Amino acid sequence: MIQVNPIILFHLYDRSNAAMTSEVNAVTNEIFNEVLSETEQAVRDTLRRFALDVMRPIGKELDNLTPDEAIAKDSIYWEAHKKYAELGMDQFTADDSLTPVELARINALSSEMMGWGDAGLAISLGLGAMPQNFAQLTGNADLIARCTPDRIGCWAVTEPGHGSDIVDMYGDERAERKFRGDCVARKDGDNFVISGQKSSWVSNGSFAENAGLFCTYEDDKGVQGGGAFVVPLDLPGVSRGKPTDKIGQRPLNQGEIFFDNVVIPADYMIAGPDQYDDFLHMVLTGANAGMGSLFAGLARAALEHAVDYARERVQGGKPIIEHQAVKTRLFEMFRKVEAARALNLHAVTHNAVNPIFELAVASKVTSTRTALEVATEAMSIYGGAGMTKEHPIEKLMRDASVSVIEDGENTLLGILAAARL
Ligand SMILES: Cc1cc2nc3c(=O)[nH]c(=O)nc-3n(C[C@H](O)[C@H](O)[C@H](O)COP(=O)(O)OP(=O)(O)OC[C@H]3O[C@@H](n4cnc5c(N)ncnc54)[C@H](O)[C@@H]3O)c2cc1C
Repeated sequence: MIQVNPIILFHLYDRSNAAMTSEVNAVTNEIFNEVLSETEQAVRDTLRRFALDVMRPIGKELDNLTPDEAIAKDSIYWEAHKKYAELGMDQFTADDSLTPVELARINALSSEMMGWGDAGLAISLGLGAMPQNFAQLTGNADLIARCTPDRIGCWAVTEPGHGSDIVDMYGDERAERKFRGDCVARKDGDNFVISGQKSSWVSNGSFAENAGLFCTYEDDKGVQGGGAFVVPLDLPGVSRGKPTDKIGQRPLNQGEIFFDNVVIPADYMIAGPDQYDDFLHMVLTGANAGMGSLFAGLARAALEHAVDYARERVQGGKPIIEHQAVKTRLFEMFRKVEAARALNLHAVTHNAVNPIFELAVASKVTSTRTALEVATEAMSIYGGAGMTKEHPIEKLMRDASVSVIEDGENTLLGILAAARL
């Protein structure tokens, strides 16, 4: 169905945000329309509108609220979830006529646009479906019915005493393979009993209705390794901590989840100790490529703001974009953004047919580093104005700074990827 070369597609630079009204860009968009499939054009245009009209204004507002205010009942945060659900993005996942590669391209395109809109909010909205996807793997009709798309999800992995240790799935950098974590699922007849806690980093943790829980698996013989489960969070024994206050991605809620002898049926397990490493590996490969799309989007947003500002700001008698040193810096930013986008397309395309962990990590590390570098340079191009809350750059820089730790700190991810070269 899609006949264009995906590499060409993503090499082309979609400037539509930089000056949506400019004639040059209107013409450029028409050219792009010829190389994007109709579905891709529709996704791009819909998500761009959503990013501009919903994500950016709501993200800006949430950024200025306390973590408690951001998720209060009357918070505008819920409006973002409602409007995102109305877009019906899950229709693509259910569309059998799309090949895996076509679906991967659509997902990458939409994630990039959402990262361009507001990266923290994008993660909150996108995470919702994770337990739903996991539930499908169990084949358990009761669980699948509990994990409908309208129920917000989370991915509960990190523990207070185990951050990188849990991401280090094969124990490459860890002395001990079978450690007892802060959260344990103990096999008890036909059930699992879950006790302990997940850390304050769980995204959507303060209100998620279902969790994809990755924790220690224990039976009568003791700790056996890791286990992955889907856990409805309205079960007796589940409680929450205070939402986390952090410097960047403030529209993304994060918070602790506590489990006090929470009982789930044994068939809510997605992976036991024998499959755990491979399952975590698979999830991290998908998550890292997704992060690559999102933060290529943030980097692009920072570049576009910088170009716009450089066109407007007059110093030395002319717009600063006409100074050669500024042009050189903008080109460097452009080069990095396009490299991140191209690598991300390469990684998501591979993931669709033959997932490669190290390629997904390369994309995550490249996009997040690029986002931080480009946002930092954009701030410098803005001069003093960049430091103020009147302009979007300081927020983009804060949002990018958090991304290099999110879903695995970049250095550790690189060590794990290197072990597979
Ligand atoms: C915005 C954001 C969103 C997140 N979302 C989620 C989520 O939805 N769910 C969830 O469960 N978690 C989430 N996390 C947690 C995230 O995955 C962890 O923060 C990350 O894995 C790092 O763990 P840590 O913070 O405990 O750092 P630590 O593991 O304590 O690492 C500290 C430093 O030591 C280094 N280090 C650690 N171990 C080694 C080693 N063996 N060799 C070399 N260097 C090492 C690290 O590279 C790092 O620089 C999120 C984090 C952020 C910032």
